[in-house]
Amino acid sequence: MKKIARSELNALFAAISAQKQLYIPADTKAGQAQFTLWQDGIVLTDKLNTVRSAKDLFFPQVEQIVNFKVTGKTMEIIENRDVSEPFVVFGVRACDCRSFDILDTVFLADPVDTFYQTRRENGLVITMACSRPEETCFCGAFGIDAANPAGDITCWMDENALYWRANTQKGEELTATLSILVDCDNTAVASMQEKTREILKKLPLNDLDLSNFDSKKLLEYFNADVWTELSESCLGCGTCTFVCPTCQCYDVQDFDNGREVRRFRCWDSCMYSDFTMMAHGTNRPTQKERFRQRFMHKLVYYPSNNGGVFGCVGCGRCLQKCPIHMNIVKVAKKLKEAVK
Ligand code: SF4
Ligand code: SF4
Repeated sequence: MKKIARSELNALFAAISAQKQLYIPADTKAGQAQFTLWQDGIVLTDKLNTVRSAKDLFFPQVEQIVNFKVTGKTMEIIENRDVSEPFVVFGVRACDCRSFDILDTVFLADPVDTFYQTRRENGLVITMACSRPEETCFCGAFGIDAANPAGDITCWMDENALYWRANTQKGEELTATLSILVDCDNTAVASMQEKTREILKKLPLNDLDLSNFDSKKLLEYFNADVWTELSESCLGCGTCTFVCPTCQCYDVQDFDNGREVRRFRCWDSCMYSDFTMMAHGTNRPTQKERFRQRFMHKLVYYPSNNGGVFGCVGCGRCLQKCPIHMNIVKVAKKLKEAVK
């Protein structure tokens, strides 16, 4: 275990940034927190979490794939994928760190998504244990310990110091270069963990029980009447999908500027009426069907295909951001009542 005084945080960031690009959660001018490329003057936010998760750094909202140039009957293919350089992302919360496991099962399964894979290989994740979890947090429902997050390196912070523990070889290698860190024991961290776990126990969603979800009841969940009631106010805005660290749907689009075609991918949302549109039309013509897809995927389909692991990490973003105050917790509770 190592530590550094909080007053030296800037020096720590400078030392990391001298080696690799460093992203930290910082406040935007609009007052929201988001992962920002560190440079002198950028300071760590005091908000619990970013509006968009650290997923952006591994699976960006828009990403170039390839360009085509057609001349007569000849087509030239121009490789133009964005260059991914080694980077460090600091301050990832336990929930967002767990979301990488979910994204890995999707993007690193055969056929491997080499865009995502390159970023995962280049990225080093430094997590930050939570000390002030909010009422919308329910990571504990998925067995995530917000007081002891995973990652290449785990940090804890109190009013005096930042504490640092390397967990992987990548983490050890970076730590070895940071002589600014000094050795310490884990007394302060143990005390912080105890306090955080006490707060977690008192959170309103701490007792959220998802054990009723059973893949054998898939059709019962699918056909439950409650989907009509749950989805009737949904605006189909897609906010819940865009803020979600585990959502991974994207569209591939071509932009023809008359000289060449730029092919790129961008996040898409199963909440949208043109999502996976095909020549015959759409598979899910009503908002009820689209709404059902999102929540069935997180609570039933993904766990059915991945050993019971849910496609949610309890980050609480959809609870905070949905304009009609709909969210996965309300859906899970209603489904529990509907399917015994
Ligand atoms: S954020 Fe709310 S209103 Fe918007 S698509 Fe999601 S559930 Fe519907
Ligand atoms: S479904 Fe909601 S709570 Fe779960 S990971 Fe996505 S945004 Fe977070």
